[in-house]
Amino acid sequence: MRDIIIIGGGPAGVSAALTARNRGKRVTIISNGAEQSNLWKAALIENYPGLPNISGEALLRALRGQLAAAGIETVTGRALNALDMRGSFSVSVGPDYYDARALILAVGITQQSGYPGEQEFLGRGVSYCATCDGMLFRGKKVAVVGLNAEAAAEAAFLRSIGCEVTFFDRQRAKAYEIKGADTVTELLADGVPYPVSGVFILRSTIAPGSFLQGLALENGHLVTDAVMKTALDGVYAAGDCTGKPYQIAKAVGQGNTAALAACEYLDKV
Ligand SMILES: Cc1cc2nc3c(=O)[nH]c(=O)nc-3n(C[C@H](O)[C@H](O)[C@H](O)COP(=O)(O)OP(=O)(O)OC[C@H]3O[C@@H](n4cnc5c(N)ncnc54)[C@H](O)[C@@H]3O)c2cc1C
Repeated sequence: MRDIIIIGGGPAGVSAALTARNRGKRVTIISNGAEQSNLWKAALIENYPGLPNISGEALLRALRGQLAAAGIETVTGRALNALDMRGSFSVSVGPDYYDARALILAVGITQQSGYPGEQEFLGRGVSYCATCDGMLFRGKKVAVVGLNAEAAAEAAFLRSIGCEVTFFDRQRAKAYEIKGADTVTELLADGVPYPVSGVFILRSTIAPGSFLQGLALENGHLVTDAVMKTALDGVYAAGDCTGKPYQIAKAVGQGNTAALAACEYLDKV
């Protein structure tokens, strides 16, 4: 079992990973590819101390390189959810599970609200992972709302196992609503009804409220105390996911604080 799993490989997550590793902890960082980070889009960063006029891409490459140089285990992929196992946490990435005694959430800004019906039907026809849940819909009509780079491949996977797939991307529709009774029966896409048994919503991030039960949120941000502890024992958060200002320097500082607090927690329990 690892000591700490960190979700998110931006400035906050990398800072947390380096600090925890320095303190001798067994750390794994789970993150989407660097190019899916918001920071990747920043053409020029002028206010990060010590690295004047660096692009977001160059900074991210440096951060990820530092992880590799420190020998920190990195899993590239989207963490789907975490289960609180009372004393440890189990994080799923596609069909794989990773266990740790503490978690640090450094997921950046995520879409909080979701589409109407998304939360209501999550697990009852709404899924965030085609490879995990696809077999449940074999021979049935499903919709894929493809908002990340892997969506087309996941739709192809669903077709390969016998699902009848209607694929939506940002060009095809903007507004979605999921309808049903006990389970999903219909997707409304820009008001047009599609009868389906399943809706796969494939974003590169997962809203923290759906990711792990029991976290406190305020205006869509994770609530933490001064040492970045969330409402759950053993779970810490850092960076943009904890609220404004959305700034690299703040993310790095909070990642450091969260890691030190997580190490202290682990040394006590
Ligand atoms: C265009 C632009 C310009 C900017 N310019 C500046 C600037 O000049 N100065 C400044 O200080 N700040 C700037 N920012 C803000 C800065 O990028 C953020 O404040 C900073 O990146 C936050 O770091 P973070 O680690 O909290 O989150 P992020 O950098 O967003 O990193 C979060 C990472 O977690 C990943 N992730 C999320 N959910 C999951 C999941 N479920 N599973 C796996 N991985 C997941 C994301 O894909 C991402 O890689 C800019 C932002 C943008 C978009």
